[in-house]
Amino acid sequence: MKKDISKKLFEQAVALIPGGVNSPVRACRSVETDPLFIDRADGAYIFDADGNRFIDYIGSWGPMILGHRPPAVLDAVADVLARGTSFGAPTDLEIELARLVCAAVPSMEVVRMVNSGTEATMSAIRLARGVTGRDLVVKFDGCYHGHADTLLVAAGSGVATLGIPGSPGVPEAVAAGTLSLPFNGIEAVQAVFKEKGDQIACVIVEPVAGNMGLVRPAQGFLETLRELTAAAGSLLIFDEVMTGFRVAFGGAQALFGITPDLTCLAKVIGGGLPVGAYGGKRAFMEQIAPQGPVYQAGTLSGNPLAMAAGIATLKELQKPGFYEALDETSAQLADGLVQTAAGAGIPVQVDRVGSMLGMYFTDQPVHDFEDAKTSDLDRFTTYYKGMLARGIYLAPSQFEAAFVSAAHSAADIEATVNAAAEVFETL
Ligand SMILES: *Cc1c(COP(=O)(O)O)cnc(C)c1O
Repeated sequence: MKKDISKKLFEQAVALIPGGVNSPVRACRSVETDPLFIDRADGAYIFDADGNRFIDYIGSWGPMILGHRPPAVLDAVADVLARGTSFGAPTDLEIELARLVCAAVPSMEVVRMVNSGTEATMSAIRLARGVTGRDLVVKFDGCYHGHADTLLVAAGSGVATLGIPGSPGVPEAVAAGTLSLPFNGIEAVQAVFKEKGDQIACVIVEPVAGNMGLVRPAQGFLETLRELTAAAGSLLIFDEVMTGFRVAFGGAQALFGITPDLTCLAKVIGGGLPVGAYGGKRAFMEQIAPQGPVYQAGTLSGNPLAMAAGIATLKELQKPGFYEALDETSAQLADGLVQTAAGAGIPVQVDRVGSMLGMYFTDQPVHDFEDAKTSDLDRFTTYYKGMLARGIYLAPSQFEAAFVSAAHSAADIEATVNAAAEVFETL
């Protein structure tokens, strides 16, 4: 595999950009690799600056559920591009995306568009504190909700990959307002509500945890969160930035039949352009400026190019059989990995919800972040490097999910499983 051009570009980037990357998860440090610089992508494939082709399971960290360059999205963006890139004034595109989102996601009656998942969760937390007049926020270890101060406590994703508890620069007083509990820790949540229920503004949770690998909610966990928050007058926030339109058209809340008070979205709803959104019950959302006193704003929010990409993406997802086909491909990958690992005698935990997939190198079932950390990280690093060398582009961390797209063919999955079979032999 040629790496000369990526290597040269990385040297230039490091001189100008912290760590050479504009988001830490791209740096590949925990797997002792330098990042590849990408030239282009198409369908299930991504091509680096040296011309190497990879089957892509990062999918821009979640948005590319249709694969890269889906014609419907390219056409929609080109059409809007011809009319301008940003107006700072409302367009009909915002109404159309809002209508699609609210029709799809059970909890969302009203939605506000923002530019990223971080903005969505940060704003939802402010709203929850605003409407309840309370300060405490409950989250779960290993869940990642973007990089806002309140939420950078025992976080997943890059924070977990770097193995750090939080971040310097987050004031102690702010961090003290966030209680982080074990994911699936029903008893821990009950205890906290018993003691402090009347001070808790909200509980925020990834309904399927995808920022510590992949951990599904245990039977009764989300139900318990719904009951306790309702009884205490706290808001339940589902952070569906990753799961929204990914695990089902209506997100995890549609899949599990649980309706949160507020929902955060991003990734898939932007079709690869920068979009986030938060929404929920009308009574809460009407507290947001200019209708209400809770302030939140954005110069580029509802950007027409991003709205067009989102609308075109959601319309593709609405086509009959879309999720069934994606589920079948994803199952083929999960089953293939389970069988090959078993054949090679490598203990792994593979789990999947829709087209989100995780594999840990441990013989212990994984129900929370502590379990996830039992994974053999040296083994993961060897696996990551072996797969990359065989043309398979995985997230460079044990604590990230893999994403299958509609562009992945049965042959792509077979090639991936065959590569894994070779790599398992070397572990
Ligand atoms: C990616 C992610 C975020 C952060 O979104 P950004 O667009 O990177 O700010 C928040 N929550 C979850 C669950 C995510 O997966």
